[in-house]
Amino acid sequence: MELKLSILIVEDEEKIRIGLRDFLEFRGYGVTEACDGMEARQRVAEGDFDIILLDLMLPKVSGEELCRQWRQSDLQVPIIMLTAKGQEKDKITGLNLGADDYITKPFSLEELHARIQAVLRRTDPARKVGQTFEFGHWQVDIAGLKIRSDNQKLEISKREGEILQYFAAHPHRIISREELYGKVWGETMTELGTRTVDMHIAKLRSKIEGNAPEPRIIKTVRGAGYQYGG
Ligand code: CA
Repeated sequence: MELKLSILIVEDEEKIRIGLRDFLEFRGYGVTEACDGMEARQRVAEGDFDIILLDLMLPKVSGEELCRQWRQSDLQVPIIMLTAKGQEKDKITGLNLGADDYITKPFSLEELHARIQAVLRRTDPARKVGQTFEFGHWQVDIAGLKIRSDNQKLEISKREGEILQYFAAHPHRIISREELYGKVWGETMTELGTRTVDMHIAKLRSKIEGNAPEPRIIKTVRGAGYQYGG
């Protein structure tokens, strides 16, 4: 039931591309490679990626051009630009074109990984569900840290809001504790992480499910995780 996040690496320098691929595969991501702009365009047309690492200087079609076209065609996949050292102007261009972040070469793989996690955390649920959304019979207001039903209004913590947002962005899907901890907390799972997730879910349930004997809004899927809207 493990779900791999999929990353597209667009980089023409083979050494860098292979280094990135090996590192990210080792970290548990599903990796697809493209070595020029045309191939990148093809891969994006065929595949469904969670994030794109996009080198700026590419043969055939530049990273800049790709980024512009993808955003114009309303592609919502987060993009991290890989820029060469000192190209201050390129970073700004990249962000203006709709990239979510950039990282300057040479970069450490750990730093890149941290950026990837940060971008995924920041963009994924928010893009899909926005700042206010329905959750069961509740209306959630993330910015105001409130949930409201026909006859109740309750406060939630920022973290609780992020959890609800993540579930709302992935309805019907079974979400493991690992995934939730990775996406909402931005951490790799530990024993403490498991308890932290369960505690937060228990607290959220006491708010949104009241005293219902069996949770109906956020369900437990034995041995797999949690599910909203199942
Ligand atoms: Ca290049």
